[in-house]
Amino acid sequence: MGRSNSGKTTFLEKLIRELKQRGYRVGTVKHHRGTFEFDIEGKDTWRHAQAGADMVALATPTGFGLVKKLAQELSPEEITSYMPGVDIIIVEGMKKGSQPKIELVRSAVADAPVCPVEELMAVVSDLPLSLGLPRFGLDDFKGVADLIENQLIKSSDTAQGNVSSLREDQLKRYHRNIMLPGVGQAGQLKLLNSSVLVVGTGGLGSPVAYYLAAAGIGRLGLADADVVDLSNLQRQILHTTADLNRLKVESAREKLSKLNPDIQIEVYPFRVTRDNVADLVCQYDLVVDATDNFATRYVLNEGCMAAGKPFIYGGVLSMVGQVMTILPGKGPCFRCIFREPPSEDAVKSTADYGILGSVAGIIGCIQATEAVKYLLGQGDLLVGRLLTMEGMSMFFQEVEVKRDPHCPDCGKLE
Ligand SMILES: [Zn+2]
Repeated sequence: MGRSNSGKTTFLEKLIRELKQRGYRVGTVKHHRGTFEFDIEGKDTWRHAQAGADMVALATPTGFGLVKKLAQELSPEEITSYMPGVDIIIVEGMKKGSQPKIELVRSAVADAPVCPVEELMAVVSDLPLSLGLPRFGLDDFKGVADLIENQLIKSSDTAQGNVSSLREDQLKRYHRNIMLPGVGQAGQLKLLNSSVLVVGTGGLGSPVAYYLAAAGIGRLGLADADVVDLSNLQRQILHTTADLNRLKVESAREKLSKLNPDIQIEVYPFRVTRDNVADLVCQYDLVVDATDNFATRYVLNEGCMAAGKPFIYGGVLSMVGQVMTILPGKGPCFRCIFREPPSEDAVKSTADYGILGSVAGIIGCIQATEAVKYLLGQGDLLVGRLLTMEGMSMFFQEVEVKRDPHCPDCGKLE
């Protein structure tokens, strides 16, 4: 985009805010000929970050971000490899490559675009240019956001076979989601194109799966080997008395597809083990731990760290619950905190101590909230923050936990 000293950064700040408001994750790259300086107050990169960009990089002759020396202009492939998981990367000052370009032409600086017209998809200008291209005024960041959304994002979603627009009934079903800041129709589409594996369909899995299904997570996986027992019904609200002795995943699928026929539900009526964990987690964007046993939790933690899959841990016993969000390589994993599984006879379960159903409900609801935030790329996640609730005193406590560089599951991740 455009030349320097042309009001470009001000325009970009508005565009970044607009795209964030529409629920997109945004990356920016600034090409700069001077020395490498990152996050200096008032500089362009600092302003991009202040405007809400999720990832900001500065590319100079001496460095790119904090990781790479740069002898020449970066290729689009190099830039995307540095910014995984963002929807839009706005690159300033890039000349080569066939990526869509929008040039800012301000009358105080120039009277025509620098880039050849055939390489441009639009211009932003205060001049009445007639180039046979869409032209936007200097205040029309919304128009540019529309162009980006319609011509770049939605067309690439369609090419990947994803849901690219909401039907009338979906606009109504998800209206209360769409109204939320940082969600919008784009955020709802993101949820509909997301997938979550919920391991366990009991006390935690019930609220997790119910709320994720209701929120419109497009593909839900449910793993559980158990059948419904009478003693489960005091807390496992996906199942009813009529479901006794049925597979829990079948009972769960029936309730969830009645709640939301819009979503796809896959069921795995077996235990997650070392042998199958890799195959399972690689099919999903995110994994929620709603298990009731340590053995499966350690298997899941190891499998998710190896596959680089985010993982939301939850555990409950008696009147106490715990929850934490684990982003591989970015925060501590379950094993950074609890290195070795407890010995068999030291393990206490809800069968020994009981559990109040609503306590599992609270923790499950927090897990579902974290899952939606992660998928939207919004908010502050419980990464490195082990949240504990004690239901009898209704006391919530957050403990800061750190990565263990010697952790066998995640110590080697970057
Ligand atoms: Zn770890």
